Amino acid sequence: MRPRFITLEGVDGAGKSTHLGFIRATLLTLGIDACFTREPGGTRLGERLRELLLAVETEVSLETETLLMFAARQQHLAEVIRPALVAGRWVVSDRFTDATFAYQGGGRGVANARIAVLEDWVQQGLQPDLTLLFDVPTEVAAQRMAATRELDRFEREEGDFHRRVRAAYLARAADNPRFYVLDSTRSIADIQSDIAQRLAQLAEQP
Ligand code: ADP
Repeated sequence: MRPRFITLEGVDGAGKSTHLGFIRATLLTLGIDACFTREPGGTRLGERLRELLLAVETEVSLETETLLMFAARQQHLAEVIRPALVAGRWVVSDRFTDATFAYQGGGRGVANARIAVLEDWVQQGLQPDLTLLFDVPTEVAAQRMAATRELDRFEREEGDFHRRVRAAYLARAADNPRFYVLDSTRSIADIQSDIAQRLAQLAEQP
């Protein structure tokens, strides 16, 4: 079976992390022991950059923020993602480049064309096979987060920022068949039944 690269995306609080364990278990029942990783992060350097990028006290220009995301991504691809795929392992990454288009592009206003240059530079044509987009209205996401955690530098942004992030994700999904959009206002069980079906389908494809 050809190894697949799966990414999880969505606004903060949409429910990505909630489903990680389920995705791991579902893949295992299909006989797939995937490598689970995340962005920004996934490597020692990347995790240090993540700390800086998410820390509320960090002051950084939007261009520098974008470049740091791609610096972490380059390292992640070189150290984790490409070696795993070459070794025949599936990879599941909690966020990848769509998040840069959504947050730095949609949220902060970096031109998509500039992000696309960096995407080509680090990915050299590599794209996820499947992107699960957990979609909820930003008000729902905000309520879910407020109930459970201290907010990071991105999560603290105002409502309009998150609305632009969500719109950018949905615009990308509309254009691209690798996206599978999950209405994440539904119950966890309903969402997981869709995820299980989609993963089984992907495993069956030649
Ligand atoms: P993300 O990783 O996308 O930021 P989380 O998985 O941390 O989001 O979810 C944020 C909060 O919302 C958690 O407290 C989680 O239990 C809750 N949650 C996630 N999915 C659902 C759902 N479908 N229905 C109700 N609450 C949910």
